[in-house]
Amino acid sequence: MTPLPLPQDPPPLFQGLAVEPEEARSILRPQKDDRYGFGFALSPYRGCAHGCRYCYVRDYPNALHTRDEWGGWVTPKLNAPELLWAQRHRLHGERVFMASATDPYQPLERQYRLSRRCLEVLLLCPTTEVILHTRSPLVLQDLELLKAFGDRLSVGLSIPTDDDTVRQVVEPHAPAIPSRWAAAERLSAAGIAVCIAVAPLMAVHDPHAFARRAKASGASKAWVGGLRLLAQDPFYKTLADHGWLKVLTSDYAEEVRSAFQAVFPGRRRVKKAPEPPALPVRAPVPQPGLFDRVG
Ligand code: SF4
Repeated sequence: MTPLPLPQDPPPLFQGLAVEPEEARSILRPQKDDRYGFGFALSPYRGCAHGCRYCYVRDYPNALHTRDEWGGWVTPKLNAPELLWAQRHRLHGERVFMASATDPYQPLERQYRLSRRCLEVLLLCPTTEVILHTRSPLVLQDLELLKAFGDRLSVGLSIPTDDDTVRQVVEPHAPAIPSRWAAAERLSAAGIAVCIAVAPLMAVHDPHAFARRAKASGASKAWVGGLRLLAQDPFYKTLADHGWLKVLTSDYAEEVRSAFQAVFPGRRRVKKAPEPPALPVRAPVPQPGLFDRVG
């Protein structure tokens, strides 16, 4: 493995972001519930500059310690690749999900390359599968590396709405929707398995056109997942102010899910999937099923 050099003098701020690098104590988080379909979660960063307004990670304990609001700080785990290398014996025959509580291709990855360097380690684990999940076309900067995995790697692209004006409200710091479609197309054209994650489901302009657009991107799978809000979540008011409370109803989720099932035929996977890990701080308001899938 030839690791890329680390930034010699990480700036304290990156596009207005508080950057607080750390030496992590661990990098692999076991997922004991096999219904999730992966054995380990791997997050090269803590915090996420995308700062999606609905993000439930913002209420996790390690997101509460900082003086800055969720989305305003990121802690790169500088030793993530080395920790992973030291732990690679645990990965035999396992599937790794990257990342569960941050976006591995948030803007800082352009500079720190921690996700890339972790992928370089995983590439050297021949029996390990990788599920990448991101909202960012920045994943394309590692296209050649991703291709080297062959069918051991798939990429999930989160596209919660077909309307970029909705995205500008709910994910103001995440990449625009058209750029995500372009990323899906390039990944698919390169032979990489792509899954479109309509999650968490936001207001959709035209569910059927949305589903057809997903299919046209070359994605082989898609799934629709409901929104999960925290107790007294200020995002509820955002939904109400914009007239989007329908996204909290199971009827709406089922309408969009049906549109996707029409263009991603195959095994119907609308059975109730496992609930996400319990929030240790505040209980979530009951929501439509998360991780209900199609395709
Ligand atoms: S990209 Fe994911 S982890 Fe980052 S803020 Fe958005 S929902 Fe949260």
